[in-house]
Amino acid sequence: MSKILLIYTGGTIGMQRRADGSLQPFDFGAVRRHIPELDLLDHRIDFTAFDRPVDSSDMMPERWAELAGIIRKNYDDYDGFVVLHGTDTMAYTASALSFMLENLSKPVVFTGSQLPIGDLRTDAKENIITAVEIAGSYEKTKPRVPEVSIYFEYELLRGNRTVKYSSEHFNAFVSPNYPPLARAGVEIEFFPERIWPVSKGVFQVFDRLETRVIPLKIFPGMRPEYFDVIYQYPQLRGVVLETYGSGNAPQLDWLDERIRRATDGGIKVVNITQCAEGRVFPEKYATGKHLFEAGAIPGKDLTTEAALVKMMYLLGKGVSDKSFARFMGQSLRGELTE
Ligand code: ASP
Repeated sequence: MSKILLIYTGGTIGMQRRADGSLQPFDFGAVRRHIPELDLLDHRIDFTAFDRPVDSSDMMPERWAELAGIIRKNYDDYDGFVVLHGTDTMAYTASALSFMLENLSKPVVFTGSQLPIGDLRTDAKENIITAVEIAGSYEKTKPRVPEVSIYFEYELLRGNRTVKYSSEHFNAFVSPNYPPLARAGVEIEFFPERIWPVSKGVFQVFDRLETRVIPLKIFPGMRPEYFDVIYQYPQLRGVVLETYGSGNAPQLDWLDERIRRATDGGIKVVNITQCAEGRVFPEKYATGKHLFEAGAIPGKDLTTEAALVKMMYLLGKGVSDKSFARFMGQSLRGELTE
């Protein structure tokens, strides 16, 4: 029997309809009443919630810190954590927590639902029940999935590899560049060879993220003024550049000049692909090489979500320029393929 802490942050899973028809989060007591099945599980489950549950669009780095703080406070008392969270920004929060929870050695499983728990056809119950099973799953004294993950619609995915893919279907998430960590059918099948190894250090939370970063998506027809945001944003620290294919962008002097000016001025530029699947290969095409030569760091197969929060984390840590480039290309939590 494992001890699980279920943390309710908000999201559709616990929403109810207001008079105008829009959905709004409600308190966890009501959510709890809809899943009496939790009492039937072999695990002991305790509950806690944000004072004010939110739609995940309102999750900000301060809320990530609040969530990380709850986990830190309860870390020694529980074997695993299940976070109920809105689906819209779940991939961002899970990615952020994967970096913020340093030396994590216990499961932190995010889940949510596409339909509120009170709806007849809700997907919430299966998601919560299996997420709890996974968080509590140990082999002797070792947790099966001691990392930050997302469980949704029968698949357990690495949190920092996941993107929200559908706003309409029950299988809302995909992990295009990394296979599932577990799959739920009649049995839950775990894939131990895919699990990120536990590090030996002491568990701690790092929450001083640097948020002066932006994503910039290139597109045919973009004009120099679009890129001038880099100079108009005081103290901008980092840019996640979303490029074509394997990391390509038009060979425009003004573009290279702006990227070089940014990187020379200490702004970090990381190149990731707009493609859902695949990675940046800066040497493959001339259209990719010029960005590299202008100082853009290849982000390999990072998702936008993981690239942004990894940047916030590394900048927040104040690592040197050389270490930043090295860490960006290195897998710190299984977030990229080296
Ligand atoms: N807007 C909701 C949220 O992210 C959507 C959901 O939970 O599915 O909080």
